[in-house]
Amino acid sequence: MRQYNSLHDIRAAIADGQVSCRQLVEHYLHNIREKAALNAFLEVFEEEALLQADTVDQKLASGNAGKLAGMVIGIKDVLAYKGHSLQASSRMLQGFKSLYTSSAIERLLQEDAIIIGRQNCDEFAMGASNETSAFGNALNADDTSRVPGGSSGGSAVAVQADLCLASIGSDTGGSVRQPASFCGVVGFKPTYSRISRYGLIAYASSFDQIGVITKNVPDAALLLEVMAGADGMDSTASQREVPAYSELLSADKKYKIGYIQDCFDSEGLDAEVKDTILGVKEMLKDAGHQVEAVDFPYLDYIVPTYYILTTAEASSNLGRYDGVRYGFRSENVTDLTSLYKKTRSEGFGHEVQRRIMLGTFVLSADYYDAYYTKAQKVRRLIKEKTDELLQAYDFLILPTAPTTAFKVGENTTNPLAMYLADIFTVQASLAGVPAISIPVGRDANGLSIGLQLLTRSFEEASLLAFSNQILDKISVEA
Ligand code: GLN
Repeated sequence: MRQYNSLHDIRAAIADGQVSCRQLVEHYLHNIREKAALNAFLEVFEEEALLQADTVDQKLASGNAGKLAGMVIGIKDVLAYKGHSLQASSRMLQGFKSLYTSSAIERLLQEDAIIIGRQNCDEFAMGASNETSAFGNALNADDTSRVPGGSSGGSAVAVQADLCLASIGSDTGGSVRQPASFCGVVGFKPTYSRISRYGLIAYASSFDQIGVITKNVPDAALLLEVMAGADGMDSTASQREVPAYSELLSADKKYKIGYIQDCFDSEGLDAEVKDTILGVKEMLKDAGHQVEAVDFPYLDYIVPTYYILTTAEASSNLGRYDGVRYGFRSENVTDLTSLYKKTRSEGFGHEVQRRIMLGTFVLSADYYDAYYTKAQKVRRLIKEKTDELLQAYDFLILPTAPTTAFKVGENTTNPLAMYLADIFTVQASLAGVPAISIPVGRDANGLSIGLQLLTRSFEEASLLAFSNQILDKISVEA
């Protein structure tokens, strides 16, 4: 069967009688088996996806199918789906099954999306390479000696390698954007609170946001449209009305765009990534947009601020995994204290343990003000400066990641080097604003380079429309 690259193409082929949802699911199941070595899926819902496909085929035949009929989706192993295992790629949740379905997934199902399986990721979404997973790392399909990025690594590879049409991931500090950049696909994180977090395993609650990984912008817009909106199960989900994002993509305006000069001057930025992004900047200028350099004086502070605040929140969120009521429990315990200690030592991997300890330290009475309070203040400065820039400019552009996909094992012994992989993605997370990564080129090794765009909170519609416009232009020029 041929490969389909958008829901639009799939729907046209279905209408033409060229393909059915069952055949589509069979196609993806075949690819998943063929490319099992990529380790993108932790579990495939084979029988169930085929049954869902039959139901959707019947609905399509009788003309009452939902917006997502024909869309075959994989979900990152941090999203609750009733009756299905949920482990956050950790031993700690061994044997755990979701008791309910997350609101985002529920909304996708209501519009007839087909869920094909559960995807590999960094343990509890902590990582930038998928290498902290308790189930082994996923591999980049463009070069299997390299990482797919993370934490939503399996989700990005699955779309890259045509194992499903789209993936639902989560983004706390770049986890959908950075792997999308490494895998040559689109990764989109909406405004904090745009999509309900009910049923999303918490990492750092004031940052966590569900995001999407797709082959194109229209599919991302449609998925956002379906998942976004108020939710009685999450009081932090925004009450704002949800625009019909997928119908607002044709805007062809001239915009005011800022590029953060300090990002381009940053030491760790790979020369080919830099040239490619600067090339896009020139292309936008030539197309009549106003493009200007802007100052963002806090670049050196964003990674430390992010890691102080997220580890603090994680140490609190992960306190619930104690081996008492569900998930993994160590067998060699003698009393309650040893049950906690051994369960956590054996259940959590090293990176998660490191973050829990770091977070506990920055929240401890003697250091709280020096680290946690200080970082909260710096976050406020970063947010205010980002918002100020976004008042003056419609979009900020910067690379998604300082490098293309790095080698498996390259950064595993150096946590600081791994944390620096997030340097360009955490600004949007600290500020809560929407951001997207779109594939705009490749380096000499054929590895993908992502351009990141940020915009004002709740202005996803123009962010998506403009990203779509850029990708159209690049594909015309290619
Ligand atoms: N790499 C970042 C981290 O390890 C981002 C992770 C994420 O967005 N979930 O925290």
